[in-house]
Amino acid sequence: MEKLPFERPVIKKLNAGMPGKFGMKTAITPVTHIDQVAVNDMMEEHGSPLFVISENTLRRTYREAKRAFDTRYPKVQFAWSYKTNYLNAVCSVFHQEGAWAEVVSGFEYKKALALGVEGRHIIFNGPDKKREDLIVAINNNSLIHIDHFDEMYMLNELADETGKKPMVAIRVNMDVGIYPMWDRFGFNYENGEAWDALNRIMTVGKLQLTGLHTHIGTYMLSSEAYRLAAAKLAGLAAGLEGKYGHVLGYIDVGGGFASKNTLKGAYYSGADTAPGFDEYAEAISSALVNSAIKPENMPLLILETGRALVDDAGYVLGTVIANKRLADGRRSTILDIGVNILFTSFWYDHQISPARPVSEHTEETTIYGPLCMNIDVIKEAAVMPLLKTGDRVVISRVGAYNMTQWMQFITMRPRVVMIGTDRRVHLVREGEELETINSLERMPEHLKEFRL
Ligand SMILES: *Cc1c(COP(=O)(O)O)cnc(C)c1O
Repeated sequence: MEKLPFERPVIKKLNAGMPGKFGMKTAITPVTHIDQVAVNDMMEEHGSPLFVISENTLRRTYREAKRAFDTRYPKVQFAWSYKTNYLNAVCSVFHQEGAWAEVVSGFEYKKALALGVEGRHIIFNGPDKKREDLIVAINNNSLIHIDHFDEMYMLNELADETGKKPMVAIRVNMDVGIYPMWDRFGFNYENGEAWDALNRIMTVGKLQLTGLHTHIGTYMLSSEAYRLAAAKLAGLAAGLEGKYGHVLGYIDVGGGFASKNTLKGAYYSGADTAPGFDEYAEAISSALVNSAIKPENMPLLILETGRALVDDAGYVLGTVIANKRLADGRRSTILDIGVNILFTSFWYDHQISPARPVSEHTEETTIYGPLCMNIDVIKEAAVMPLLKTGDRVVISRVGAYNMTQWMQFITMRPRVVMIGTDRRVHLVREGEELETINSLERMPEHLKEFRL
């Protein structure tokens, strides 16, 4: 066994805390390697902090999700939710696995095209599709999911202008027993607005109605909510069959499956409570096959799963800057990972592990980031070993949303590497530097000089 570094003895206040079903877990397991690559080696080469993505985990998770649906429903297609993580390398892994692209802005649309995704494999969602973006999407035969009536009218106009019949679906919002309800996107099911939209598309006849879409929320812990959503969309599809003899190509139930992260304040860990892909797949598939849609007309089932496919594959590595006693005696540790690069620390109790073996001494510690801001708290109360300045830590399950919502604030956004399936470490995004920021700025002539 390796000789552990000396730690001074401490007298600590016993803190009862909140035991879970299995008591209070205090054993700390270090994370010294990711996919058999040493954390220390990666940090020596690429600096700190450092985001790490496991290609293996991306592919394994995708295949697990795909299998869960393929074994229960005849036709399944995933579309990768770009906003969840649109690093090109990450998108490419999912596209190699067969996923289409799901985008919510002109920028994301262009990113997918530039990566080589064909227009007909791009789903264009969101409330803000610019006229010029829609023209490109129409000419590329992309699947446009209408969010509101104004967008429908614009599409009718563009159909005349382009001489094409755009392929559209409507986004439907609905009551699936989850409150607050996400009712700001799309057309409401319960008050008849969805039918109003469908009837207009069918009677005006300028658009090609190819599918139905919903996205009920994010981090949804209830698979029953998906059963209801799929059943309601299937009801609309069956209604279209009956009323117009119109057969839809697909039903898209959106994203929102929970990842294994633990929400702040949750009693049990997310790994124990989040439904698995099988549970979601069971609910959705059974709602569709048991619906009134004729068996020969079963639509393609599209899933826009984001978070649950990518969260586990992401890590952020960081370094202890200092330890401090707060005025009330609490221990606090300052890391070089701030909330500006780890947005999800606002709602997740992230798992923070030391990157070296540690003794069993632990103390409840508040983990701060390096920003000069009071809100820069990575974790309010982490049971942590006594780490020293320079010690390294690994924060797990950070693959979703952090590498898209991160912001350059006080510090630079760091490098991102991907550990390939061959265990080689590839740099997939450079770290920002002063020049990166300054290259965007312009200095008015009269401000170029000063004397102090
Ligand atoms: C964000 C989003 C997704 C992905 O959601 P996750 O919670 O990450 O699975 C899918 N579809 C739409 C329309 C979205 O806006």
